[in-house]
Amino acid sequence: MALTGLEIFKHLPKTNCGECGSPTCLAFAMQLAAKKVSLEKCPYVSEEGKAALDAASAPPIRLVTIGVKNPFKAGNETVMFRHEESFYHPTGIAATVSDTSSDSEIADRISKIKSLSYERVGQILKVDLVAVVNESKNAEKFANAAKKAAELSDLPLVLVTSDPSAAEAALKVCKDDKPLLCGANPENLDKMAELAKTYACSLVVQADNLDTLSELAHHSASKGVQDVVLNPTVESLGALIKGVTQIRRQALKKNFRPLGYPILINVMGDDTFKETIKAGAFVSKYGGIVITNAIEKWQILPLLTLRQNIYTDPRKPIMVDAKLYKIGEPGKDAPVLVTTNFSLTYFVVAGEVEASKVPAYIISVDTEGLSVMTAWAAEKFTAEHIAKSINTSGIAELVSHNKLIIPGYVAVMSGELEEETKREVLVGPREASGIPSYLKTVWKP
Ligand code: SF4
Repeated sequence: MALTGLEIFKHLPKTNCGECGSPTCLAFAMQLAAKKVSLEKCPYVSEEGKAALDAASAPPIRLVTIGVKNPFKAGNETVMFRHEESFYHPTGIAATVSDTSSDSEIADRISKIKSLSYERVGQILKVDLVAVVNESKNAEKFANAAKKAAELSDLPLVLVTSDPSAAEAALKVCKDDKPLLCGANPENLDKMAELAKTYACSLVVQADNLDTLSELAHHSASKGVQDVVLNPTVESLGALIKGVTQIRRQALKKNFRPLGYPILINVMGDDTFKETIKAGAFVSKYGGIVITNAIEKWQILPLLTLRQNIYTDPRKPIMVDAKLYKIGEPGKDAPVLVTTNFSLTYFVVAGEVEASKVPAYIISVDTEGLSVMTAWAAEKFTAEHIAKSINTSGIAELVSHNKLIIPGYVAVMSGELEEETKREVLVGPREASGIPSYLKTVWKP
């Protein structure tokens, strides 16, 4: 049972030093009771206090780590809705490999899965796990496929089988990789839990209703398998969304420990469109891991982009360093464009400059990650700010002209900017898409 704020307060030092970020110990206790902070933030809690507060400080949704080389983490979420705080561990996309495939087919598929890596606004988006599926129902083939996948990929593995003998065969050949064993149900739970414990790996429990699911999770924990992942298996999308919402609510709002684990959803199916849509639903709603057959770019890229949008911390704009950037090999007569350090703005501008094939300099001004119009309205993209960035950028030594191109939306500041910088200010296009034709037809050094 979770402790109340006042119960937690009894175990704190009561010195109100403020080092934890809360003004008083009582305020910190309230935050801890609401699961909004962790106990480590207070450096002065005694060992006895720590032991007593263990239950209160344990995350409502357990953090489960899969794999060794590139470990994947799921769980440890603290809120129902992203706008309340943030979602911390992005949904893992697990692409399937079937054990009915030949060795060369497995190698081709792994190679394709590894190639699914894209850079967007300065971040690398990629598939996170490989799910080896025991479609053959044959233990030897399953072990062979798991071994191949472990050899050819450094991604964590999910072993998908409900057959304990196939699971054991596969675990024996990839035990050092600490895979996720997926397939414990009411019929095989004892054997699967035993395997998970022996091979020190995490275990996925499966059931089509929450009562059974929580009993399986509780039973696994009582058998010594603490790292559990929940896999609700109801068929319809609506019922599944309702189920995962109830799991999250029970874990966060009721602190119901048997459902306090990350969720895995298997969207494998015959219809590739529906599979991708379903995967998207659980990237949006509480999926810790989604297993999918989808490995085409048109299927994966939207999922990864959706995931990036949802798991970006709304309190921290994504920023690039505020500095001078070179696009291509700009010479002394290269254009100099000014923009903000909001990642999306910078990369859109940089992409259009690249597309123009006109080598150029871009000066990214520190606007605390705000876009052009927002920064201008917030007075973070003023003539004064821009002048400061230009003066410290070193551009004067790199070009032989004194011209600057500013975004068309802030044309109104051009006079003031000319005074601040003693440079000729050219008003560029309003939209970044106009940059290539502007640089090719309007720009003259
Ligand atoms: Fe109290 Fe610890 Fe926070 Fe200091 S750091 S105010 S002692 S809870």
